[in-house]
Amino acid sequence: MGRLEGKNVLITGASAGIGEACAKEFAKAGSNLILAARRIERLEKLCEEISKNHPSIKVFKHQLDVREKAKVDQLISSLPSDLKNIDIIVNNAGLVIGLDKIDNVTSEAIDTMIDTNVKGLLYVTQAILPVMKERQKGHIINVGSVSGTQVYVNGGVYCASKHAVDAISRTLLLELVDTPIRVTQINPGMVKTEFSIVRFGGDKTKADKFYEGLDIGKYNSKFDKTPETIVFAASRPDHVNIADIVIYPVNQG
Ligand code: NDP
Repeated sequence: MGRLEGKNVLITGASAGIGEACAKEFAKAGSNLILAARRIERLEKLCEEISKNHPSIKVFKHQLDVREKAKVDQLISSLPSDLKNIDIIVNNAGLVIGLDKIDNVTSEAIDTMIDTNVKGLLYVTQAILPVMKERQKGHIINVGSVSGTQVYVNGGVYCASKHAVDAISRTLLLELVDTPIRVTQINPGMVKTEFSIVRFGGDKTKADKFYEGLDIGKYNSKFDKTPETIVFAASRPDHVNIADIVIYPVNQG
């Protein structure tokens, strides 16, 4: 029996990109899934596909906007009883919008990125941690970014949000040091997902051009190894904690 078999895994932002791919990877490993995001119809489709391919695992969809603290607080109580004991949380929900210089970036972009990437991640973690502490087991996996370790022009707010994720992961590591609860931060480089288009205000042509310009048009999410890396970190023995992993496409530079 694999280490992830039968574990209950909650993935936020499971309706697309890295979160969706991650759900499929955990399903292959035999984990039960709680898939959360705002777009419920996408989650429904994903649940159907996973259930068809892996009939022995439990898959539960949960419509959730991580920015809505009251709803996040009800997360555990809204789960079926056999999925309430969450073993692994992948805090993946996140976005980038309205990239611009600090003096121009709109308050809508500031609020959306900080509310989702930072406050949403904190709310979900606060909702799950009591269960993990009570059971004295669990693994929190936060999806940060290389933007959490570097900065670039026009990316100030997004980078600030991902630096905050890094700070939260490191603080959790210290605060949970006397418990068996593990904390891992995964920092992906560029992954071609819908995120890449949102980043360019929904302009796919601009996005494609940018990726071509960087000579990374050769790869896309199909070849991305981030979800596999998340599952790798989750599947280490209980006494091993991988604190962080940075994963780049080889030609990102
Ligand atoms: P996608 O845009 O493909 O997916 C983002 C996911 O986040 C969607 O499932 C979306 O679901 C969910 N989401 C967004 N806002 C909310 C919200 N308020 N509440 C709940 N779910 C939400 O992006 P990626 O898969 O590329 O990104 C996933 C993570 O990886 C993010 O944290 C991102 O910052 C990080 N990352 C991505 C990189 C990349 O190059 N793609 C690089 C480095 C890090 P829905 O809209 O249905 O709610």
